[in-house]
Amino acid sequence: MAKRILITGGAGFLGSHLCDRYYEDGWKVICMDNLLTGSKNNISHLIEKDRFEFIHHDVTQFIKVDGDLDLILHFASPASPIDYLEMPIQTLKVGSLGTHNALGLAKTKKAKFLLASTSEVYGDPLQHPQNESYWGNVNPTGFRGVYDEAKRFAEAMTMAYHRFHDIDTSIVRIFNTYGSRMRLKDGRALPTFFRQALKGEPITVFGDGSQTRSFTYVDDLIEGIFRLAESDEAEPVNIGNPEEITILEFANEILEITESDSKIIFEELPDDDPKIRQPDISKAKRVLNWSPTVNRREGLVKTMDYFKEQIALV
Ligand code: UDP
Repeated sequence: MAKRILITGGAGFLGSHLCDRYYEDGWKVICMDNLLTGSKNNISHLIEKDRFEFIHHDVTQFIKVDGDLDLILHFASPASPIDYLEMPIQTLKVGSLGTHNALGLAKTKKAKFLLASTSEVYGDPLQHPQNESYWGNVNPTGFRGVYDEAKRFAEAMTMAYHRFHDIDTSIVRIFNTYGSRMRLKDGRALPTFFRQALKGEPITVFGDGSQTRSFTYVDDLIEGIFRLAESDEAEPVNIGNPEEITILEFANEILEITESDSKIIFEELPDDDPKIRQPDISKAKRVLNWSPTVNRREGLVKTMDYFKEQIALV
């Protein structure tokens, strides 16, 4: 009998890649999404398949799914700074009420539950690189607070269900990830820089560009999540590529890859923008035998084709 999985946020960037991964692995896949930031385009190739089902639903409302479930991946949430600036209440609600509903469903179905958490739980970190035992430096009332605190609450709720209701749970802390199906206009650095470079528009680097990030190619992330869901690890695990780069260097790298002659312009740094970010992945290596296999340049070249197609469509 094929196992059955529910993926909340399944029509989003990461959710849809997870739908693909589990479908290819022979699972019956239920994709749930309210299409606030997700898109049916991301799952159009799956929609007619018999082991695939799409449910249009907002997980902040009671979640009803008929039949058995073996695994729930809770990925529903706005996830880019522009999205949570525009949808602060929805971001807080999906992280809190949505996580509570998804955990309640896991309890009823006796399903394993995996929470998509984020490197944002570390805030503007005072420890570098960030390992899972670091508690973070988050401004609860800043504009990013709605996402950071919702995810911190979601982690606390997940651990409470694990400890109190004995649910099998895992928590993945996802670092900046990129690849096909990212929205061209989600405001994040990578799609923005690609769009600007490919259209010959100025590249907008915020601040002086000395802040760092570490970018993970989507296939590597999906593999890490797949392994974590199979494991018994309940405490959070970082999944990310430790290759760290400043945003200015990154802008130049995208100019080079796209062979663009766009100019770089500097704009004001948003509040609470983390100055540094790099995952310590010793735990993922130890517990999941996972480490990234796609280096940044290779991943960016693969992703460029997707952005070229997207630009041609608009
Ligand atoms: N950034 C930038 N120009 C842009 C968009 C983002 O310089 O047009 C910067 C942003 O301030 C941050 C970094 O790039 O320092 C990564 O931003 P992103 O929104 O991709 O994600 P974050 O890691 O901040 O959540």
